[in-house]
Amino acid sequence: MIEFTFFLIIFLLSFSIIYVTNLWLYIEAVDINNFEKINLCCTWGEKIEDGLLTYKILASDKHKIIIQNAIDDWNQNLNGLIRLEPSVNSSADIEIKLNENKSGKIAGQSTINYGPTGFIDNVKIILNEGTFGKSLSFNIIEIISKHELGHAFGIGHSNFENSLMRLTHYNNESLEITECEINAVIDANMWKLKNNSNFPYGTVEKFSICKQ
Ligand SMILES: [Zn+2]
Repeated sequence: MIEFTFFLIIFLLSFSIIYVTNLWLYIEAVDINNFEKINLCCTWGEKIEDGLLTYKILASDKHKIIIQNAIDDWNQNLNGLIRLEPSVNSSADIEIKLNENKSGKIAGQSTINYGPTGFIDNVKIILNEGTFGKSLSFNIIEIISKHELGHAFGIGHSNFENSLMRLTHYNNESLEITECEINAVIDANMWKLKNNSNFPYGTVEKFSICKQ
């Protein structure tokens, strides 16, 4: 019997916009359809002034280890640009919660909440233990955690295969955080991470190009 273990996991990115004060205009000057790119979503404001964002994990011990691996991997790849640190109080900039739910189609979801000046105030990530009634492997939960953390840093979906920020993923994939995701995080938060400005501003670009 051939066991069909190859199933689709769908990510849903929902942006709950509380305040949006910035209206960004973008004029597309070149044909970008053939470019490998990652969309840019949004920008952290003064919270990344000190280069730190706090996180909190709400999950069973076995899942906490997997989610922590994803956080450690981002920290390693960001190499100090922004550092995720465990929150020491009840609130956190990024909250990651794993539900024991397996019945849905969605493996992970990020909700981005904006502050009064239009910058990211906090992010809530919900992960599910399974989809379509089956438990997800630890491998895919780690990939989903890394994917959703990408959203938490302000980046959207990519348009190419074998990419961490692709909208859909398969159970047996092996995907890493690459220079492409790191550059997109820098582009999304360029006021601080590229230009080291004293005040936050959003990027006018809608996407970050990975490969032309
Ligand atoms: Zn996504």
